[in-house]
Amino acid sequence: MINKEELWQAVLAQTQLSTSRASFATWFYKTKIVSMDNGEILISVPNSFSKEWLSKKYHNSILKIIRSLNKNIRTINYVVNLEKPQGPTKKKQPTEESEINQLRLDRFEINQTTNLNHHYTFDNFVIGSFNETAHAAAWAVSENPGFDYNPLFIYGGVGLGKTHLLEATGNKILENFSKKKIVYAPAERFTSKIVTAIREHKIEELKTELRNIDVLIMDDIQFLAGKEKTQEEFFHIFNALRESNKQIILSSDRPPKAIPALEERLRSRFEGGMIMDIGLPDFETRMAILKTKCEEKNIELKGDVLEYIAANIQKNIREMEGALNRLLIFNKMNNKSPDVEITKKLLHSLMHFPARSTNYKKIVQTIAQFYDLKKDDLLAKTRRKEIVRPRQIAMYLLRSELKESYPSIGRKFGGKDHTTAIYACEKISKEMENNPNLINDVNLIKQRIYSGTI
Ligand code: ADP
Ligand code: MG
Repeated sequence: MINKEELWQAVLAQTQLSTSRASFATWFYKTKIVSMDNGEILISVPNSFSKEWLSKKYHNSILKIIRSLNKNIRTINYVVNLEKPQGPTKKKQPTEESEINQLRLDRFEINQTTNLNHHYTFDNFVIGSFNETAHAAAWAVSENPGFDYNPLFIYGGVGLGKTHLLEATGNKILENFSKKKIVYAPAERFTSKIVTAIREHKIEELKTELRNIDVLIMDDIQFLAGKEKTQEEFFHIFNALRESNKQIILSSDRPPKAIPALEERLRSRFEGGMIMDIGLPDFETRMAILKTKCEEKNIELKGDVLEYIAANIQKNIREMEGALNRLLIFNKMNNKSPDVEITKKLLHSLMHFPARSTNYKKIVQTIAQFYDLKKDDLLAKTRRKEIVRPRQIAMYLLRSELKESYPSIGRKFGGKDHTTAIYACEKISKEMENNPNLINDVNLIKQRIYSGTI
């Protein structure tokens, strides 16, 4: 009688024949039969997303294949693997001191050719409901670059793993296809390369160089906003790569349609691929990430200390790491692990106290930057269409975040009277009830206002 491993192998082999590589990689990644008895099969899947797809879309075909091999099977159930998210637990734990040092060094090791950081891998990327679709798409791309999801566009707020995911994809492609020419470039660096090349009359050389790439990973594409010349050059490079089935992977802090001053033709190119977002990790995932980072940093912290961090830093994984670093230093200096009381003191300045940690200047500056406007235009009397709405959002945020009075808000924005401020705040808050784009913009702005990235 065929055993459960063989049975699942057969299902995978047959499904692969009738499914695109990307879908197969996305939905069947890390699936297996965990039990088979009394005519019942239990299939373990890595996340709820795969569970839904397998049970809705692939169930009949899986059942058919299984029944063709074992007639006794009547039911199939799917279960999300409860050990997930786990990431690095699969990795061998470093035991020797030298290995630990190696691990730390790796963090800063940048591959000279690809510009990829070895440290960012799928192995140490924790998966939760907030990033599982983005992860699945990135993983699929790493299995089959240049075809199904091209470009792959990943967006999400600051410190939530975009760069990690992009670099992990690049590293994995390098592992799977060692001959492929991969380049990782932050959009800002790309812009300055273009500017220099234009100045030195070397733009054609640069273009030829870029067209030879098999996988172009461009991080933080929102920085192209308003850079017309760079956008133009990028458009041509993008087309050349796309036409020859070279993979393009992009990240941004917002979806293409929310990037201001982005040429329409580029926007539609971006939208023509696969767009995935990364949301906010829930408490359990934050705990899993903290545990992963503790292992990497080789620091042991008590459960309640980790819980304190996970409960208080909710919107930025980089900040959670910052918190761990502080505790690590304390640990080293005092040779003891901090308890919750000490942790509270050590992390006091890192924790979020929204009403106190932002101010008028920061809100206005963030909004101007977000919509690619001049700060003065936002504050002036003008009725220009592209300014009116950002200004209303600014008024709304001064009210909601700082509880400013309407007359004071009106005065700040071109000496308008309080009824204008009331109108603006009500308009935005009403629209927020049913306009997902606006909700998204406001959330991104808020995240920036409180994340200290400006
Ligand atoms: P972003 O590019 O979105 O601003 P990064 O990719 O730089 O964010 O992530 C910030 C830090 O958080 C990095 O050190 C990264 O390793 C870590 N991080 C983010 N997401 C995850 C994750 N899912 N699992 C493990 N670490 C993560
Ligand atoms: Mg980044």
